[in-house]
Amino acid sequence: MGVAYLIQLIYSQRHKIKNCCILLLIFFLGSGFLIYLLISVIFAVIQGTGRVSDTDQQNLASYTEFQSFNYKTIAGDTWYTFAHPYTFPTLGVLTQGVILDSSAVVGLRHVAWDIADRVSRQTEVRAFADGTVIAVKDNMLINTTRRWRFCDESENGICWYVVTKPADVQYGCGNEIDIQNADSLQTQYCHLAELPNFQTGDSVTVGEVIGYQGSTGWATGKHLHFALWRGGQPIDPSYAFQQTSLENWGDEN
Ligand SMILES: [Zn+2]
Repeated sequence: MGVAYLIQLIYSQRHKIKNCCILLLIFFLGSGFLIYLLISVIFAVIQGTGRVSDTDQQNLASYTEFQSFNYKTIAGDTWYTFAHPYTFPTLGVLTQGVILDSSAVVGLRHVAWDIADRVSRQTEVRAFADGTVIAVKDNMLINTTRRWRFCDESENGICWYVVTKPADVQYGCGNEIDIQNADSLQTQYCHLAELPNFQTGDSVTVGEVIGYQGSTGWATGKHLHFALWRGGQPIDPSYAFQQTSLENWGDEN
């Protein structure tokens, strides 16, 4: 078979070859698009979208990392974005969320999430995001007087805006660690079983174990009191995690 014959063959079949090439092109573009869609979906599932949908049945043991969320402080109107990997700080069910009136179990208000895992298990508490330890405290003294005085000073019984720094509401927090995260966000973890083995200035990474759920301080049982702060103002953790999905994440068995 000579080269001339081959060229002649290709030339005589040029229309079929052209159609074939077009079909192949469509096939590869189509497949590529489908693969792109598939990869996008996988990434969306792995990374999350800042909030967990109600239908998610996540196993918290895997400590899924989320990538960003928008939030404002409870007192403020300005929206901020935290665009860094973050994770759920512990296993459990939400036993008390943010409460701004007197229906809170303890005290007048509760600007945090209480997350309780079953008592029989040692339950890790993990760093919400990368950061630096700003305080490790042993708040065994319960100073209710001071807490109530804050409320007297406010105009309408809502006390949080007279709190000038997170330390003002530490009474009853028990064994506590506070972490400075990026973008002026601070995280606070209370009632830990032991005093965390960290020093001020230590770095922590997202998901790192920083302690275990306990009931030290002002607690009615083993749980984590998890609070988000910005400039001394509390933030509802719902902005980072949807309350309703928490129950799906818990392990009460
Ligand atoms: Zn609490």
